[in-house]
Amino acid sequence: MMARNFSAVVTHRLAELYSKLLPIPCFLCGEFSQQEALCKACIEDLPWLEQCCQRCALPLNENGICGQCLIQPPPQHASLALFRYETPINHCIAAFKFHQQLVFTQLFARLMAEKLQQQDNALPEVLIPVPLHPSRLRRRGYNQSAQLADILARQLNLKVDKTSLIRQRNTVPQIGMSGKERKRNVKRAFTLCKKLPYKQVALIDDVYTTGHTVAEACRCLQQNGVETVEVWTIARAIRHY
Ligand SMILES: [Zn+2]
Ligand SMILES: [Zn+2]
Repeated sequence: MMARNFSAVVTHRLAELYSKLLPIPCFLCGEFSQQEALCKACIEDLPWLEQCCQRCALPLNENGICGQCLIQPPPQHASLALFRYETPINHCIAAFKFHQQLVFTQLFARLMAEKLQQQDNALPEVLIPVPLHPSRLRRRGYNQSAQLADILARQLNLKVDKTSLIRQRNTVPQIGMSGKERKRNVKRAFTLCKKLPYKQVALIDDVYTTGHTVAEACRCLQQNGVETVEVWTIARAIRHY
């Protein structure tokens, strides 16, 4: 485990260094023009999430609260997502998640920091990435949300806590599951291994799908003294069931 984590850290550092020194091809169009994962034109063409529900980031015709959140508010106080989870951002996130495309981490962190700075809202005290179960972390070698949280915390000058919130149950991958199955799958998935000194937290995850995973993590934090939790994700999936 140590060796794998070490190699993930080294790969991460190398990717960081590499991206600072050399132009890299845009992941989507191949153009060698910049030092980021995507070129400017491809970034502009991404499915940016504009007006949305302030609680769950569901796309809406104007900023507000969606019908679902009015009926049954989620535990998080607010949600922020950069994109709608559509092509091609789904391919970019898959690369970010499974193929160590760490240049994406820097791009997503930069875009998220810019969006937060535009919003002018008070920032939380700490960023907490949604943890992977230790066995999944071992297999993958890194937690993409933790890497994103690290870089974002540096850019926003915030603390990051990657150790207090832990995944106590190894949930099965949720692809293809119904909403109900996902809810059952993540129930009591999280616990805290130590008391948190924070009142305002932002949870960092890659994709907001049904929201059950982040809701479970939110509840765990709120049962342990955290007052407000925001959920920051790269993309918001739209439910079709
Ligand atoms: Zn491009
Ligand atoms: Zn909503």
